Amino acid sequence: MNLPFSFSDDMRSLLGEKEFLELRTALEQEPVASIRLNDAKYVDRESTRTDGLQPIPWCREGFYLEERFTYTFDPLFHAGCYYVQEASSMFLGEVIRQQIHEPVVALDLCAAPGGKTTHLLQTLSADSLVVANEVNQARVRTLADNLLKWGRPNVVVTRNDPADFKDIPGLFDVIVVDAPCSGEGMFRKDKGAVEEWSPENVELCHKRQRRILSDVWQALKPGGLLIYSTCTYNVRENEENVKWMCEEWDARPVEVVVPREWNITGDLTGSDVPVYRFFPSRTRGEGFFMAAVRKEGGLSEEPDRGMPFSGKKGKKKTSKNKTTSPGPVASRSSMEKAGQWCRLSGMDYIPVYTGESFGLFPGRHAELLNYLEDKLHILQRGTPVGEWKGRDWIPSSILPFSILVNTAAFPVYEATYEQALIYLRKEAFPLPGHLPAGYVLVCYRDIPLGFMKNIGNRANNLYPAEFRIRSSYLPEQIRIL
Ligand code: SAM
Repeated sequence: MNLPFSFSDDMRSLLGEKEFLELRTALEQEPVASIRLNDAKYVDRESTRTDGLQPIPWCREGFYLEERFTYTFDPLFHAGCYYVQEASSMFLGEVIRQQIHEPVVALDLCAAPGGKTTHLLQTLSADSLVVANEVNQARVRTLADNLLKWGRPNVVVTRNDPADFKDIPGLFDVIVVDAPCSGEGMFRKDKGAVEEWSPENVELCHKRQRRILSDVWQALKPGGLLIYSTCTYNVRENEENVKWMCEEWDARPVEVVVPREWNITGDLTGSDVPVYRFFPSRTRGEGFFMAAVRKEGGLSEEPDRGMPFSGKKGKKKTSKNKTTSPGPVASRSSMEKAGQWCRLSGMDYIPVYTGESFGLFPGRHAELLNYLEDKLHILQRGTPVGEWKGRDWIPSSILPFSILVNTAAFPVYEATYEQALIYLRKEAFPLPGHLPAGYVLVCYRDIPLGFMKNIGNRANNLYPAEFRIRSSYLPEQIRIL
């Protein structure tokens, strides 16, 4: 790999000659492939599927792959049973596990395509709420789709500029800023990152990161945790930004306990600020940086924002949002349907309406949702359940992705691997004659893939068109979970 001269120079002076040469050798090797299982969907019942895979030390659900999977041809990938994620960045789960011990309201500020958000959702308690934000219009759709497939109801997707969060002070217990960066840690995964690299871009990123952090700092509660990460090596975008937060604001660095054998590298600037660096020459994964700071002050100092959910005085806001009910009869029948089609396990949900569709959202965050609807541009909330068609509610084609779906509410057809691929290409195949007319849940290895509508002499494939496999080719070697 032809490393930019100035990058090599910087790294050499940062790491010393020996470590720089080790890094350069590591950058010549193939990137490491890894996945993180969705433990709410995929339980390794057969326990053979992950047997041969090496676990990622800092992530219980993470596994290295000796050979990259042919993801496109894995029905379990499409069903949201795992997320393809770079191993080093799974360190987020360890930071959360050590620092957060109760339900929280979390913001993932730069969230697309959803690696950190899906990880937050599986690490935080199910009573938590995660707001996944992405400013980029094209990328936010991918984020929303990935979160639909991940299947959790306790998530809201927003498309806002970081500056918009200035308007909601002290709201979040946890904020993750996985900042846009110069991408040095991605050099061996993405050759474009090498070509785009320049000292000027490092400076630009450094400034943009400070702007993003400044914009969102107000939105963190006193006592709250801000987790900052990049996939780059230089100190301008890393240590210097963390130290700057601690010097300029009421931020205190947070230490994470890491076993020595994980080979995680600390601060490279000679200070003792706890930061966590992943070098491919030392840890198995790509280049990554993470640090956490806590906002000084306890929750008791929380300002009274007069928000409806704060339980304090303040005017209750009525929502001017799109989640208003379609009328008492329809709304009663929608909740009846939700009770049949979903396993609510004693948890309290409210219906949320968008146009002709309705979904479920955790009741304990209902007032917070109302507040967010007024402040932010919300694209998606909770879990889709049904659509109003004619005078009936019909199940949403997204419902099978939800961890709430009640598989006992529908006749199930267990597809073979070949049928699963036909289904995921949104092509038709006949269902056996004994299945009743109506909605049939197509499963593969007991995992719901989607619905077909059985109409006797044929069955309509209801798989969402936007998720379908577009390739008609099948590789000779299939490597799947
Ligand atoms: N957290 C994501 C994950 O784990 O899948 C990856 C996030 S990526 C490193 C950084 C994200 O920041 C990108 O999605 C990018 O669109 C977004 N971004 C770019 N410029 C931004 C800005 N000025 N403010 C906020 N986000 C920005």
